[in-house]
Amino acid sequence: MNEKKYQEDDEHGNSCQINGSDSSLRFPFAAPEPYLTQKISDDIYWLRIPLPFKLDHINVYLIAEQDGWCLIDTGMGTNYSKRYWQQLFDSALQGKPITRIVITHNHPDHVGLANWLQQKFHCPVIMSKREFEIMAYLFSISGSTPPDYYLDYLLRAGMSTEHADKVRQHRDNGYDKAVDGLPKDCQFVDHGDNITLGKYQFNIIIGSGHSPAHVSLYCPELNILFSGDQVLPDIPSMVTLYPKNPKFKDHRKQNPLGRWLKALNGLKALPSDTLVLPSHNKPFIGLHARVDEIIANHCALLNQLLAALQQGKTVSQSIMPIYKRKVRDQVYVMFISELLAHIQFLEQLGLVAREQGAEVDIFSTISAPDMCQQIDDYLSR
Ligand SMILES: [Zn+2]
Repeated sequence: MNEKKYQEDDEHGNSCQINGSDSSLRFPFAAPEPYLTQKISDDIYWLRIPLPFKLDHINVYLIAEQDGWCLIDTGMGTNYSKRYWQQLFDSALQGKPITRIVITHNHPDHVGLANWLQQKFHCPVIMSKREFEIMAYLFSISGSTPPDYYLDYLLRAGMSTEHADKVRQHRDNGYDKAVDGLPKDCQFVDHGDNITLGKYQFNIIIGSGHSPAHVSLYCPELNILFSGDQVLPDIPSMVTLYPKNPKFKDHRKQNPLGRWLKALNGLKALPSDTLVLPSHNKPFIGLHARVDEIIANHCALLNQLLAALQQGKTVSQSIMPIYKRKVRDQVYVMFISELLAHIQFLEQLGLVAREQGAEVDIFSTISAPDMCQQIDDYLSR
């Protein structure tokens, strides 16, 4: 079952130890050259689509099917990505059509060209229903003023009214600029489903925390996990808490970090020598070590927060002690949402108290035990 059927590229000296992360990870493949594929197995190929920001690229994967290719994720919905794909159709894809597209989650670098590729190849898109609903929602508010509950969330976190006014005037969430339309013919999958892609059976694993219902796919026969952004080898996946429409959901009751930690820990049920094919950086072996490392990084941030909140603070006032720098605009909002996801986890464990003032929420540490033990206890519940 766990026999390795993929190819390791040792003979070319491309297998290397990780830098900047857990030294027990192994990287069996060199990155593909631009416009070329890297062969992972007889039926699975790795491609990179460039991204116009620091992340640099997204990995997409092709699985050979009888009459074409099943594609995992697509790249962003920009004209540049479309031109890049145009070059790939006859070369990397050998003139064969895309027969199905699997989308891991709603972020633009993953889903940006699903609709465009679907229109070209008339193929179904496979994703989770929740991720599709989020996409539809993000399109529906593109180009409109941010809702009041979003501004209230930022003000309660300690954003100045001047800064909030700037956010109010910034009318566009940009989703429709980065995602080229909503795919139409979707096949929804859920946790525990099995699907056949090419010659292989894959188990659908739904994770949460980075996005609400992120799809990973595990093939027992090949011992390969397409992990999307659920596990990345050497960069963190953001775990954030954004407000929901309070008519439907009170974001103060949400616990994205708790869901994230449980989903990550659940992946340790897979064999430790699983070949992980992530959406960024390189495929690697060392799933359990990487999961442990990611959980330890959250643990360290939670310990830092417990120390910073000894003197009560707004979320905004916690940015400097944690990140050691002043930030503005989009990064500020990202840090607020990441810190709030962690603070709310602490609040739900009864370690931090929220004082809900007329204008801002102040968070204070009640008790500061070692978070690693707390997380172990939380994961064993
Ligand atoms: Zn993502």
